[in-house]
Amino acid sequence: MMSENCLFCKIIRGEIPSKKIYEDDDVFAFYDIEPQAPVHFLVVPKHHIPTLMDMQPCDSEIMGKLLYRAQVLAKELGLEESGARFVFNCKAEAGQTVFHIHLHVLGGRQMGWPPYPPENH
Ligand code: AMP
Ligand code: ZN
Repeated sequence: MMSENCLFCKIIRGEIPSKKIYEDDDVFAFYDIEPQAPVHFLVVPKHHIPTLMDMQPCDSEIMGKLLYRAQVLAKELGLEESGARFVFNCKAEAGQTVFHIHLHVLGGRQMGWPPYPPENH
């Protein structure tokens, strides 16, 4: 199921250009347009799911594939030894701005923790 006006559905359909890294029947991966680390890409299910909290039992398999692919790509992009941050922002307070589930993969620099509110930066 695709959503007409969803930015990431449009990227998946090729209606908006992206720097694609990987695609199969279920999963699509592309570089973030505003990278927050030397390596920053997004892995999305082709199926439109707005947020992680909309995930249904039937989505378990595709989300497993998404997670599997994310770590394969992270390793291919040189992050196996150093590690990476794998993040789902879920809804507004967590910082979600695009309402099509996406797993951020960030790496290539030291990450901070915990994720303080923006005013503390
Ligand atoms: P979030 O804030 O967790 O919803 O993440 C949305 C991410 O999508 C942000 O990191 C944006 O930089 C990224 N983004 C927005 N538009 C595009 C685009 N056209 N191509 C690639 N990444 C995008
Ligand atoms: Zn979508």
